[in-house]
Amino acid sequence: MVNTSLIGEDYYKDFNATLGINDMSLVWGGLFDIGPPIGFFWSPPHKSHRKGTSVDIDRCAKSAVSENPNPQGICPEGWIKVNKRYIGEKCWEHGKGWLVPEATIHCEFPY
Ligand SMILES: [Zn+2]
Repeated sequence: MVNTSLIGEDYYKDFNATLGINDMSLVWGGLFDIGPPIGFFWSPPHKSHRKGTSVDIDRCAKSAVSENPNPQGICPEGWIKVNKRYIGEKCWEHGKGWLVPEATIHCEFPY
């Protein structure tokens, strides 16, 4: 998804860190999962990720600099805590998307 790339680019510029993108469905719909022996087949709760409109963003982002002034939160050394509100604003800015309550940061774009 181009929208997701734009969110990642903005995040990198603003926080000097790389977002982890997960569980994205294919642009034309369908699961992006790669079955065995390379990967595994998805199971719930990711059944919703099949219309090409959903993406999960990790709660920790890998810092590109050694001394990153952004909050680390629960994230390990060298990573920073991703601000959910920031991602919500970028989901909207780059595709009129919105956050869906989930353990990760789930951005849903309109179909
Ligand atoms: Zn999700």
